[in-house]
Amino acid sequence: MRPSKPRETTLGELRNSGHVQLSVKAEIRRNLLDRLRSGEPRFPGILGFDDTVLPHLERALLAGHDLVLLGERGQGKTRLIRTLGGLLDEWTPVVAGCEINDHPYAPVCVRCRRLAADLGDELPVGWLHRDDRYGEKLATPDTSVGDLIGDVDPIKVAEGRTLGDPETVHFGLVPRTNRGIFSINELPDLAERIQVALLNVLEERDVQIRGYALRLPLDVLLVASANPEDYTNRGRIITPLKDRFG
Ligand SMILES: [Zn+2]
Repeated sequence: MRPSKPRETTLGELRNSGHVQLSVKAEIRRNLLDRLRSGEPRFPGILGFDDTVLPHLERALLAGHDLVLLGERGQGKTRLIRTLGGLLDEWTPVVAGCEINDHPYAPVCVRCRRLAADLGDELPVGWLHRDDRYGEKLATPDTSVGDLIGDVDPIKVAEGRTLGDPETVHFGLVPRTNRGIFSINELPDLAERIQVALLNVLEERDVQIRGYALRLPLDVLLVASANPEDYTNRGRIITPLKDRFG
């Protein structure tokens, strides 16, 4: 059972509690180091991996790299990736009601930046469990930018918002996993154009949606898996994305 959720609070109270904002990668690094010291299990339930896989994985996590796991299907790559969520803090503070889990100290989305400006220290803070900070997608050739990054939400436009208004964006899976771990399985199956869009979000921190640009500094640990056979037969990973994985 989950330990009980901390009570809802405000930005002012969160600051007074001494809470320090960490990036996802810094949070994982800290918790991994704690477990290495205490001897607590790091990847519970994971068996049968070569002795070299887990130490490699740990080194990459400690170095703050994004990860790519190469291996045949059925080796339990996905299962291993899913255990990474267990290295996050049990609960993390978010701006209450934010679609992309903004940290209360530094909101990114238009809605929360406006709320923060209006409410100051009274900005409402909720809590997100680590199980809800993990997103995954099986890459297919027809995976779209809309699926991963976002699209214009026709309902919001119909409600009278003008096209080009950043609040008409319907966020895709990656922004919704902001401040968490996003796993893309079988990365080479993703069209190169979509890999470029993914890279832009992670690296340039810009989102281009139907002609308008949105600055969206996301904080995500990206984990990809690929089957070495498909790698050569079906698709490839674009070089700048490959470079991102340490
Ligand atoms: Zn927000």
